[in-house]
Amino acid sequence: MRRADFPLLARHPDLHYLDSAATAQKPAVVLDVERTFYETSYANPHRGAYDLSTRATECYQEARQVVGRFFGVDDPRRLIFTRGTTESLNLVAAAWGRSHVRAGDEIVVTRLEHHADFVPWQQLAIERRAAFRIAELTPAGELDLDHLRSLITPRTRVVAVAHVSNAIGTILPVAEVAALAHAVGAVVVVDGAQSAPHLAVDVDALGADFFAFSGHKMGGPMGIGGLIGRRALLEEMPPYQTGGDMIEVVGDDRTSWNVLPHKLEAGTPNVAGAVGLAAACTYLTQIGMSAVRAHERRLTTLASDRLAAIPGVRVYGPPAGGRSGVVSFTVAGLHAHDLATILDQRQVCIRAGHHCAQPLLRSMGVPATARASFFVYNDEGDVEALVAGVLAAQEIFGAPADDPPASAAGAAVEHG
Ligand code: PMP
Repeated sequence: MRRADFPLLARHPDLHYLDSAATAQKPAVVLDVERTFYETSYANPHRGAYDLSTRATECYQEARQVVGRFFGVDDPRRLIFTRGTTESLNLVAAAWGRSHVRAGDEIVVTRLEHHADFVPWQQLAIERRAAFRIAELTPAGELDLDHLRSLITPRTRVVAVAHVSNAIGTILPVAEVAALAHAVGAVVVVDGAQSAPHLAVDVDALGADFFAFSGHKMGGPMGIGGLIGRRALLEEMPPYQTGGDMIEVVGDDRTSWNVLPHKLEAGTPNVAGAVGLAAACTYLTQIGMSAVRAHERRLTTLASDRLAAIPGVRVYGPPAGGRSGVVSFTVAGLHAHDLATILDQRQVCIRAGHHCAQPLLRSMGVPATARASFFVYNDEGDVEALVAGVLAAQEIFGAPADDPPASAAGAAVEHG
């Protein structure tokens, strides 16, 4: 669709990059604006009284506007720049969580959370002596809404859900989850790491009280991401970190905090990263998120169907239409890491392992899956290279095709 826009891919015409769920390649526009920022407007923002510093400050503010609007948010004070999803979720768990979750309260997550949206809540629950509850999946790999409903009580303070699973691609019904959580006054935290790059996201329409995302998965730079929050929640939160920029007055005994968003952004910010992320948002907007989704849906369906038709291959997660651009699969008799090695020799880059979702893979009864994931630069040729590589690996390893093939619609998740 857009391969020519990506310098690394243009430089390596035979590379089949199928690991965008881990990180996405960068379009030239992102690299260009970062360089331009360093060459024309670089200084520490907020601190200097000189023109160059003002220019850097303006670049940072403009980036905040653009990125906020990408998620349907007009008030830039609601966007806190962070290093990425992991930091955003830790920020919420530490700053909001510690000041709102008490002994006997309840925290609800789902079985398919990435460790970044599982462990901070699990640890908060241990620390606050709160209950930690896990909403299970249906056999088809979708969120079991009835089970979730049974876990939500008047003591529930937080419901933390992924918008899209990085491990099996499931798209979760976040608006329905939010309605259930809000009915008992709980706060909804959405891990948007895998939806921000692939689906049109309107944070408020989703019902997310907090929404976390990573720039590097969207074609933006590494080391920048964000947390969008409801204004009232951000206002009442204590700071996450303390230091420069986030203070108002520092007395010998007491300190008062700066206004949003600065209160939650201690220290020198990643301005070049923010500028690059804004360019990535503009790039995706120009393509159109519905076109991005349609393109990835087509490739995901094609890859799922082609792989599932190979004897011994099992594809996990819901049918491809209910999945984002992720195809997670196993090949009977072949370890996912061995498969990834063979594919690498054929210049096909996939991920193999537990995808930082051990609670999910445990419930699926598999130690690892192979995962191919798509973005705007992939095409049918990448799918063909993947399929050819799997067939070649089966031949090399003499893998027995004794596992029944998954249905063309995608096999059910197995629960161990
Ligand atoms: N959540 C999900 C669903 C993810 O896929 C990832 C990245 N694999 C993260 C959180 C963590 O993102 P980051 O490493 O960019 O902080």
